[in-house]
This record gives sequence, structure tokens and C-alpha cells, in this order.
Amino acid sequence: MTVSVPGGARLLEGGPIATEIRAAVAEDVVAFQARYGRAPGLAVVIVGRDAPSTVYLEQILRGCARAGIAGRFVELEGEATEGTVTSAVRALNADPTVDGIIVQMPLPPTIRLRAVIDAIDPSKDIDGIHPLNAGLLRLGYDGFLPATAHAAVEILRRSGIEIAGAEAVVVGRSAVVGMPAAFLLVREDATVTVCHRRTRDLAQHVRRADIVVVAAGRPRLITGEMLKPGAVVVDVGINVVDGHIVGDVEFETARRVAGAITPVPGGVGPLTNALLLTHLIRAAERNAAGDAVAALGGPP
Ligand code: NAP
Repeated sequence: MTVSVPGGARLLEGGPIATEIRAAVAEDVVAFQARYGRAPGLAVVIVGRDAPSTVYLEQILRGCARAGIAGRFVELEGEATEGTVTSAVRALNADPTVDGIIVQMPLPPTIRLRAVIDAIDPSKDIDGIHPLNAGLLRLGYDGFLPATAHAAVEILRRSGIEIAGAEAVVVGRSAVVGMPAAFLLVREDATVTVCHRRTRDLAQHVRRADIVVVAAGRPRLITGEMLKPGAVVVDVGINVVDGHIVGDVEFETARRVAGAITPVPGGVGPLTNALLLTHLIRAAERNAAGDAVAALGGPP
């Protein structure tokens, strides 16, 4: 049985929050430029221009340009070897005008992801993919967070959703979204269950949750019937169905039961890009001050 919440769910939109964050970033960039005589720098390594993630990466560079950040592509041939990619990353590690490095994902199958990730200087790893940053998150230290997982939790915080004590269910356990989101929710004092493809009864877990974070890459995986009335739903999924971008949650049924829900598009996505720029500013300030170790932070 589906219980309706009168008036439907509150929409948790990422756009207005992202606008606030971008305005603060632009101010930080002006202050950085005045202090160090250069703009903070971001390098985005892409291997082959026709990669599916190029559109997303171009968006990031447009955001950089609007904020006054010196963002640029480092383009390698689609046939580039692993050695070429890791050498390019090491050259960026050594470049003092580059404060943050992002590498296009997925990489061509001939290149081992691990080899490339390991090559990134952790103090320039603004999307938190290096094992050092993943380990710092696990230990509760303040390293660089994966931006999408950060956005999934930040949208809750900035929307005034009570996380402490909440029963949270994360659907998806990837290293870049599901697991870091789960660790962040634990850090915020939620009680967290992580579900995946081998979870026996997904609906039973989801129905217990006050907060549901869905990052599975499966359209309509979560429906209104599976939700507890009043639950807060964060839909991280990005899927293209019949030419439209949809999330992992069946929005029309979920919004009738949930207390609050992020739309797709317009929820987690805009916040992800804006938060990535805040990570870059932090890296730039620490790197420019010659304090690469501090860039990774101590215990919170
Ligand atoms: P991923 O690496 O493919 O991981 C998907 C996870 O979902 C896996 O842990 C998988 O379980 C689980 N899963 C898949 N089908 C499931 C099912 N039927 N029931 C329960 N769990 C299931 O994907 P990802 O990189 O984490 O990305 C997840 C989604 O977020 C994608 O739609 C992606 O496009 C989107 N995304 C959004 C942003 C943004 O800014 N909004 C950024 C990055 C990614 P197993 O571990 O058992 O395989």
C-alpha cells in the first residue's frame, strides 16, 4: 500500500545551493589571485576527445572560467598508453601552477585505472580518488572527498535535514559514490545500511530508511511503494531513457510518499560541480602556501 504525503514531497534542488557556493568560490579566487599573483589552476586529463564524459568535463571547465579559475584540458590521443597517461599526470604533479587534477573516467580499457590513480599527487587529488584520500575518509580525517558523495550529503545538510540518529540506506557501494556517501553519513551520526546487487530484499531495507541515497545507475530501481512515508530521498543516478536524463528513483511515485526528494536533473549534479571547485580552492591555498601535507588535513 502506498501512503501519500499531503502536497507531495519537498524538492531538494541543488541549483540554488550551487549558486551560493559558486559565489563564495569566486570571492576566494579573487583573494587567492591578490595574494599569490595567479589564478588557482585545474588540469583535466582526457584520453580521446570523444569519450562520453567529455560533456561533463567541459561543464566543469565552464564553471572554472566563470569563477576565474584557470582550467584546462590536457588532451592525450585515444590510443595513449598507460605510461603516457601516468607521465602526463606526473608532469602535472610537478607543475606549481596546477593545484588540482581530474582524470576522465572511464579510461580506455587498455589502461589500468589503479596505475593512473596511484600516479596522482594526493594533495592535488580534488575528487578524492587516490587511496590516501579514500583512507583518510575511512578514518574520519579531513582529506579530499569524492565530489559526488560529498554533494549527496551536503544537499541534506544545507537543506536542514536532520542526519544524526537517522536510519540511512545507501543503495550502491562503488568506491566513488556509494561507499564514500555511506562513510560520510556515519560521520554525521546516521545509522547506515549499504545495499548492492546481492542484497536479498532491497525493498525491505529501503522501507526502514529515514534517508535513502541511491547511486546504482538503474532507472526506476526505487519506487514510491518501497519508501517509508516522509523519507528523504537523494537520487544520485544519471541515466538516459528515451533521450531524457532520469535518476534511479521513480520520481512520480516517490514524490507522493517521500517527505523530500532531489530531482534529476537539478539535484545532486549541480552541487557536485560546485563542491569540486571548493576542493580546488582548498588545494590551491595549501599548495601555494607550500603546505601539501596540510592540504590533506588532520582529524576533524
Ligand atoms: P557503479 O560503479 O556502476 O556502481 C553501482 C552500484 O549500484 C554497485 O555497487 C551495484 O552493486 C549497485 N547496484 C546496481 N544495480 C543494483 C540493484 N539492482 N540493486 C541494488 N544495487 C544495485 O556506479 P557509480 O559510479 O557508483 O554511479 C552510480 C550512479 O550515479 C550512476 O547512475 C552514475 O551515472 C551516477 N553518478 C552521478 C554523479 C552526479 O554528479 N550526480 C556523479 C557520478 C555518478 P554491486 O556492487 O553489487 O555491483
